[in-house]
Parts: sequence; structure tokens; C-alpha cells
Amino acid sequence: MTANLLDFDLEGLAAFCEQLGEKRFRATQLFRWIHQRGASDFSGMSDLAKSLRDKLPDVAHIAAPAVLSRQNAADGTIKWLFDVGNGDAVEAVFIPESDRGTLCVSSQAGCAVGCRFCSTGHQGFSRNLSTAEIVAQLWFVEHTLKRELQTTERMVTNVVMMGMGEPLQNYHALLPALKVMLSDHGYGLSRRRVTVSTSGVVPMMDKLSKDCPVALAVSLHAPTDLLRDDLVPLNKKYPLQELLEACARYLPAAPRDFLTFEYCMLAGINDQPEHARALIQLVRQFDGGRGLSCKFNLIPFNPFPDSGLTCSDKATVQTFAATLSAAGLVTTVRKTRGDDIDAACGQLAGEVLDRTNAVARMAKRRVGTEHVVSMHARLP
Ligand code: SAH
Ligand code: SF4
Repeated sequence: MTANLLDFDLEGLAAFCEQLGEKRFRATQLFRWIHQRGASDFSGMSDLAKSLRDKLPDVAHIAAPAVLSRQNAADGTIKWLFDVGNGDAVEAVFIPESDRGTLCVSSQAGCAVGCRFCSTGHQGFSRNLSTAEIVAQLWFVEHTLKRELQTTERMVTNVVMMGMGEPLQNYHALLPALKVMLSDHGYGLSRRRVTVSTSGVVPMMDKLSKDCPVALAVSLHAPTDLLRDDLVPLNKKYPLQELLEACARYLPAAPRDFLTFEYCMLAGINDQPEHARALIQLVRQFDGGRGLSCKFNLIPFNPFPDSGLTCSDKATVQTFAATLSAAGLVTTVRKTRGDDIDAACGQLAGEVLDRTNAVARMAKRRVGTEHVVSMHARLP
């Protein structure tokens, strides 16, 4: 097996070139061919030294995982399913808007966090994606769309690590992938156009703030530990107070002066006025009472089979948003895109085998939730 060059950030590619006895600067040319021009064939890299062009096919290749399917939604959203081998598949979703094109990228096959409202979480964890498998989603989509539309204009202007998996539980592969996205010789995306979404892996949030402080979205979903323990089991390891303190530490490095909190609206579970009030109190305690600088993004729950959950109705979502806004918290309600092809948040399922019996575990936990809900009915 030769090296897949999608596995390297520029630094890594330079080291690879050096190993081949080539000058490091050759890596920049090669990197630009790969990421800016979408090349996969060394013979066409005309300005690359002939010696290197001849060597490369024996030691390297440039390839994305095979595409199992592509679905185009009525609203222009496109979803690809990639075969990452051994019965695992991951999805990438392109969401076009008038002023941008956002690509939602997966970081793992399955996910070990096991959030109750997430289809990926219900599958259990299969494995981490490699850097090449993460970068390939961007490389493939950007250049496929460019070729189809016969344009040199940039197609993907924003990347959100909001596909399958918990990116901060695959930090080792994530970091070089982010560097490829940001590199001027790669996709040249600014740090504010690349967002890592996390369920709250506190130590890795700190690490990201030092290594590559891109925009951060934190999946909050609940204002109390009791409820969040049940919805996002990682909360037992990194409870709310610790998580919010990590958010406050991230802020000085963040590309904008706020973080985003995602909040999935689940009927009767986390969508009541008392939950909104508790959220306000939670974020207010920071910065000497001025509050943590944040925006709320309410995500209507996207149902999937066997979740046992339903989405809050429109009026409840509006009331919740209005309560947060009235307290001075900037709040948006996310538009659902691509739901006719199951491409909306939390619906990305791939075809990962349930190796960890997650479905059975979830079914057991559902009993526990009713208990939690009734306790929360008494929140202040
Ligand atoms: N693991 C990361 C990123 C992937 S999930 C995280 O949890 O943040 C991306 C976003 O989709 C998260 O905010 C997640 O909470 C949300 N989400 C998951 N399942 C959902 C569903 N069924 N409906 C709506 N949003 C969902
Ligand atoms: Fe994993 Fe995110 Fe889904 Fe939770 S919401 S199970 S962390 S992918």
C-alpha cells in the first residue's frame, strides 16, 4: 500500500518529499496540485520536477474513498455516502446558500458518545477516520462540483465538522485535516469559516485553542447536569461547569468574539420555559456576571426511527428563542436542509454495523428519561 497524499498537511508532505530525497519546497507545488487543482494523477503535474513526477507513482497515490451513493435534495443539498471499508460508511453533506457553500464533514465511523437524539450515536462506535478520509470529503466534493459546474470559483466556502462522529475524540487525525483546510496552499479557508462542533471533550478544547483555534460550536442541549447526563452521556465525564469554563478559556483564541451553543429542541424534554431560564442563569455567571459571550443555535430535532423522541412544535421553539433573546442572548433557529434525503443534522447514519450493541443500551436508557423529565418539571 502506498501513501495516500491526502493524509498529509503541508508540513507532513514536506517531510515525505524529504524522505524521497527531494527539496521541501517541492511539497508546496505538489500540495497545490492536489488541493487547489484536484489532481490525482502525477503525470499531469507539469511544473513538478520530472525526477519527482517519476518517483511518486511507486510510493504514493491520491484518492478519496469510493462513493456508495449520492443523493440530491430538492433544495440543492447534496449528500454523499463514502465506503470506508469493512462495512463502514460515512456521509458528507453539501449545503448551498446564496452567499456560501457549506460542507458538513464526518470525523468518525459511528460515535462513542451515544447521544440519545442522534442517529450516529445510536449506531455505536466503529472507528476513527484517518486524516486522508476526512480531507478526502472536502477534496472530492470541491473538485467534483467544480468540474460539474465547469467553474473555477470556490464551491466549498465553509466547513463544519458536524457530520458523523465526535471530532475531538479523533484529534490526532483532525488537526492535520484542519491545517489542510486553512492552508493558503490548500483550501485557504479562514479560521472563522471552519467550525469544529463538539459534545464537550474538555481537554481537547484546550488543546485546539492552542494548536488551531478555529470556530467552536458546543453541543449543549440541556441546562442541568441531571438532564445533560442523560442526553449527552459525555457530560458525566465533563459536567456543565467544567465545560463552560473550558468555553470561557477558548474564547480569547476564538476567531470571533463568541462561541456557538447548539441546542436540539426535544418536545417535553429540554424545551420548557424553565429550561430556557436555567440556560440564561448558566451562561450569566461568567465574566463577572456579564455572561459568556455566546450565540444560541436552536436545532429542531430531526426524527429518525426508534429514537423515541419528537421535535418541539414551532410555537414552543419560538417561545424558547424569544426567552433567550429577551435575556440578551443572540438566538437563531436552524433551518432544516435536505430532510427529504435524510441529510439533516443527526440523521447521518451511513451503514455502520452496530458492533457495540448501542441500540440495546439506548432502549434501556429510554426508561430512565421519563424519570428525568418529571424531575425537571419542578425546575425553578
Ligand atoms: N459530535 C459533534 C458533531 C456532530 S453532531 C457534536 O455532537 O457536536 C452535529 C450537531 O447535530 C450537534 O449539535 C448534534 O447535537 C446535532 N444533532 C445530532 N442529532 C440530531 C438530531 N437528531 N436532530 C437535530 N440535531 C442533532
Ligand atoms: Fe456523537 Fe455528536 Fe451524535 Fe453525540 S451528537 S452521538 S457526540 S455525533
